[in-house]
Amino acid sequence: METKIRIALQKKGRLNEDSMKLFKEAGIKFSVGSGKLVASSASFPIEVLFLRDDDIPQTVADGVADIGIVGENEMYEKGFDVDVVRKLGFGKCRLSLAIPKALEYEGLKWFEGKKIATSYPNILKDYFSKKGINADIHEIAGSVEIAPGIGLADAIFDIVSSGSTLVANRLKEVDVAMHSEAVLIAKKGLEPEKQELLDQLLFRLNAVQAASSNKYVLLNAPNDKVDDIVKILPGMKSPTVLPLADKGWSSIHSVISEKEFWDVIDKLKANGAQGILIIPIEKMIL
Ligand code: ATP
Ligand code: MG
Repeated sequence: METKIRIALQKKGRLNEDSMKLFKEAGIKFSVGSGKLVASSASFPIEVLFLRDDDIPQTVADGVADIGIVGENEMYEKGFDVDVVRKLGFGKCRLSLAIPKALEYEGLKWFEGKKIATSYPNILKDYFSKKGINADIHEIAGSVEIAPGIGLADAIFDIVSSGSTLVANRLKEVDVAMHSEAVLIAKKGLEPEKQELLDQLLFRLNAVQAASSNKYVLLNAPNDKVDDIVKILPGMKSPTVLPLADKGWSSIHSVISEKEFWDVIDKLKANGAQGILIIPIEKMIL
């Protein structure tokens, strides 16, 4: 029987959509029946288990799944021994301490002896022990943000992204303990055939990730400006320069990264580039 790699993905929630999109862009489609917990793909030897994100670290650590996608927050909280193969760049959030808005805050010692509600007691315990704070950590499973308002706790330790949930509950973020994003994890000591499938998968994910962080740029320039412009545009090797029908002008093609995008565009314009076109890249094989 053909070897398949088995991946645990969140069944529904904040990581599901981006995880499915990543695989789709990597050319891997799953036939998912509604409500089904297992799916397979016709285009890659992979099988998916759809789980609650809480169960993903253990499922991978135990080898019930070979790999999985989960937030770093969930992975560290559960503490199972797995390999982090790749950061995925989505599901970004932070784990923060927040206190009632009206109260004064003058530093972490505010939390000494206080009661703090959280779904991440282990991460908070580690953080406080590093900082030398003793507090009463109260674990609750959900709706942590309402705990201070109903008198269940003095403060909370929870996931924050925009901060609007905190504002709605009259809380203020006072300290960030960790930043988190979705990661691809793998069980320790993957069998060689599975490792080979993981490598094939990573090759595809690299192409998708490289493409999404780069743009193809096309521009026209007078010939006497070409040398200056080529210096600004590194390209994958070096930029392509083609003559235009209009004598004295050239067309220059290159790839630039999202990070330096605006900076590069400004320099190009300042150096005489015209008719600049920016085109998204579908896949990029390095
Ligand atoms: P499940 O039913 O699978 O247990 P859940 O309710 O525990 O789901 P979600 O709210 O779907 O979890 O969040 C899943 C993960 O997404 C979180 O553990 C975190 O890593 C990340 N995450 C949470 N909130 C946000 C946010 N506001 N923005 C971006 N990522 C987030
Ligand atoms: Mg969960």
